Amino acid sequence: MSFKKIGLYTKLVLLLTVIVTCQTEKKYKDGEKKSKIISVSDPHSFSNPDQVRVTHLNLDLNIDWNKKVLRGHVNLDFDKKTSADTLILDTRNLKISKVENRNTNKPLKFWLGNEHPIFGSPLYIVLGEKDHSACVFYETSPDAEALQWLNPEQTHDKTDAFLYSQSQAILARSWVPCQDAPAVKFTYKASIRTKPGYLALMSASNPQKINETGNYTFNMEQPVSSYLLALSSGKIAFKAIGKDCGIYAEPGMLDKAVWEFADMQKMIDEASKLYGTYMWNRYDVLVLPPSFPFGGMENPRLTFATPTVITGDRSQVSLIAHELAHSWSGNFVTNATWNDFWLNEGFTNYFEQRIMEKVYGKSYDEMRQVLAWNDLEKTIAEMKSDGIMADTKLKLDLRDRNPDDGLSDIAYDKGRFFLCHLEKIVGKSQLDHFLKSYFKAHAFGFMDTEGFIAYLNHELLDKNPQWKKQAMVSQWIYGEGMPVSAIKPISSELKKVDQILNAYFTGSSGLQTMDTSGFTTHHWQYLIRQFGLKATQTQVKHWDNFFKFSNRSNAEICCDWYALSIRLGYKQNRPQIESFLNQVGRRKFLMPIYSELAKTNEGKLWANSVFKQAKKGYHSVSVHSVSEILK
Ligand SMILES: [Zn+2]
Repeated sequence: MSFKKIGLYTKLVLLLTVIVTCQTEKKYKDGEKKSKIISVSDPHSFSNPDQVRVTHLNLDLNIDWNKKVLRGHVNLDFDKKTSADTLILDTRNLKISKVENRNTNKPLKFWLGNEHPIFGSPLYIVLGEKDHSACVFYETSPDAEALQWLNPEQTHDKTDAFLYSQSQAILARSWVPCQDAPAVKFTYKASIRTKPGYLALMSASNPQKINETGNYTFNMEQPVSSYLLALSSGKIAFKAIGKDCGIYAEPGMLDKAVWEFADMQKMIDEASKLYGTYMWNRYDVLVLPPSFPFGGMENPRLTFATPTVITGDRSQVSLIAHELAHSWSGNFVTNATWNDFWLNEGFTNYFEQRIMEKVYGKSYDEMRQVLAWNDLEKTIAEMKSDGIMADTKLKLDLRDRNPDDGLSDIAYDKGRFFLCHLEKIVGKSQLDHFLKSYFKAHAFGFMDTEGFIAYLNHELLDKNPQWKKQAMVSQWIYGEGMPVSAIKPISSELKKVDQILNAYFTGSSGLQTMDTSGFTTHHWQYLIRQFGLKATQTQVKHWDNFFKFSNRSNAEICCDWYALSIRLGYKQNRPQIESFLNQVGRRKFLMPIYSELAKTNEGKLWANSVFKQAKKGYHSVSVHSVSEILK
């Protein structure tokens, strides 16, 4: 009901509201020269869940493909303390037209606070005593950070436009006004209207067939954090893989993806055996166009994945194990704030490792561990030379910073190796038992680092003084770099690669006699990286002519090879690098290449000219990260 049709009762309520509003507005505006985070618990959200906590969203959005905006409303149900008079939501670049109580049709007074460059603007909504929901009518900006609108030529099939969202870490606020803090969990329903003939998908119950009207409804009955809100639309097809899992992709990509991820059902079964029942009904994967900034995003029920893992040899399927593992670590038990990010990612990398071991065997996973260890050592050395060793602690302090700054090997691999270290001390079965009960005890809740340490001590380490002593928990979590107790993983498969390289560098074997039969992507990656430690520019040239690394279609191999070429001043493959940077938007590949280029004046100049064009196809997350490097 519109503002014009208000009755006498509503007018009285409004008059009272105005009085209350003036006081509330004064209360917030007096202290607000610049918008400040007032919640003590989450340094990246303006919201006030301690006072008013959102419990359910009802989204109703039209996808406007011409203007590249979402338009509609979200109704937010909340619980509040009796004394609470204001709901504060996070927003970023949203055009808000009105806010009302949908049950009474009473307009609610609202205003936006000043914009913060990283956190956006708080939306203050004044509540009456009887308001338990608020409906916000809004439109997103065409530049909404979470949303990427792709023209047909930026997709795989090149026939239709495509839209996808990436809400983690704090970008949900750019397409839904919400309490954008991981510790606030809510259920949601949605009605989405897209172009007839297109499919729409969310992190919820999903359609499997295109509905010619373009109208879809969604339901997520398990509580999720805002960073797990997800939406995608386009000409998307579906194919089942197992009884409760399948693949969504552009039609031209679908069969390749189905072949690549054929072991998905096996992974779900193994994961459930390890840490308890899968709690999200279905597990599907949406393969996105190549601009997607991450490998995957663990949107509940529907992982969003980069097509760069479709390599034709199933060598990068650990990505699925990783995103699936998030169904427990992250989506089920969630990091309380982005300072506790390692609780999401370190646990997930460990869990991924266990799934990979079960499905593909120990020696396969050992190769991945060695590669990860070497990357981690390199990251720590770089952070040391950049003077940011504080960021090598597992518990981060990202106050006043973009939480994406915490996206490094530290949370993922120092976190994972900490759990490997615990595994060595207490034994696999003890740790598994502990983790299983940890997930069960905190199901659909959240956890901070200190809460985890208390739980770990109480449920595991206190049982054996020797364990407690060896665990060195504080050193791992609050200390910089890697603790001395960390044990480097070894791989017999990669030892063979060392021998091959040794023979090459000592001159006892040439490229023609090098035995690379049976090499997987991981063998190649290790070979390239170790070669790069000793190689000369002439050798790089010989290798490129012989192995044709610059022309491979496997993005992992290309990325390692390009970074090495740039470092050693080999420039003949610049056209291939340029084309790669224009095709792929995955942050993991962009960062090492742009970082190497930024080390010389010539490289930086060239990188800037490539970036100027290539960034048009990148998601805002990648644009932000690369801009930082090329600054
Ligand atoms: Zn992850």
